[in-house]
Amino acid sequence: MIHIQGLEFRYAHSDFRLSVPSLQVGARERVAVIGPSGSGKTTLLNLIAGIFVPNSGEITVGNVPVHALDDAGRRVFRISNIGFVFQDFELIDYLSVLDNILHPYRITRALRLNKEVRGRAIALAEQMAIAKHIKRRPGELSQGERQRVAICRALLTQPKLVLADEATGNLDPDNKTQILDLLFANLAERDAALLAVTHDHDLLPRFDRVEDFRAFRASGEANA
Ligand code: ADP
Ligand code: MG
Repeated sequence: MIHIQGLEFRYAHSDFRLSVPSLQVGARERVAVIGPSGSGKTTLLNLIAGIFVPNSGEITVGNVPVHALDDAGRRVFRISNIGFVFQDFELIDYLSVLDNILHPYRITRALRLNKEVRGRAIALAEQMAIAKHIKRRPGELSQGERQRVAICRALLTQPKLVLADEATGNLDPDNKTQILDLLFANLAERDAALLAVTHDHDLLPRFDRVEDFRAFRASGEANA
């Protein structure tokens, strides 16, 4: 599902360097990413999603060379094929929960918002136990409920790859386990893969594999 080869990346005005010689994630595989703060975990997810472009190297998702697409191509590819659960959720406060979940279908002509998609959004909200909140605004929900909205939005396009950035970071242990159960069940139904950054070492045994960022050469970080 993900093939990375010889990836090098640096920000324009920073001495931080990310270097990932090789990283593979198979179809259906659930891989956890761990590593110290500032080691480049979020940067890597943004590169895989095509939000950033590597300075050199190859990133292939499915059979698509993401690094070789132009800006518009990467955006459409990401919205249509990758579910991204952001570190701070990035929900839109002035939209209802339902409209937040439907958001991928509102921001590109490549996807068509129709009755079937709305039905799927509501079914996901039911699966994640937030259906009773769909007319409310994200600001009226608890942290755990907002988290579930972000996951519903990431799953709406039925992506074969989900990228999650410390998605369970601020939740109590019961909520964490429950959300992970729901997410894993959804992925398994669709043979989808997951790459999840996490600080929760008690969750690691649930993943197929753990990638430790300390194995990648990164410089410019405090403890390098
Ligand atoms: P992690 O997610 O592992 O905590 P990040 O990928 O967020 O790490 O950040 C890696 C390094 O890149 C940090 O030193 C951070 O300060 C730097 N960084 C992150 N975003 C930017 C940016 N937009 N411009 C310049 N430097 C950045
Ligand atoms: Mg991060």
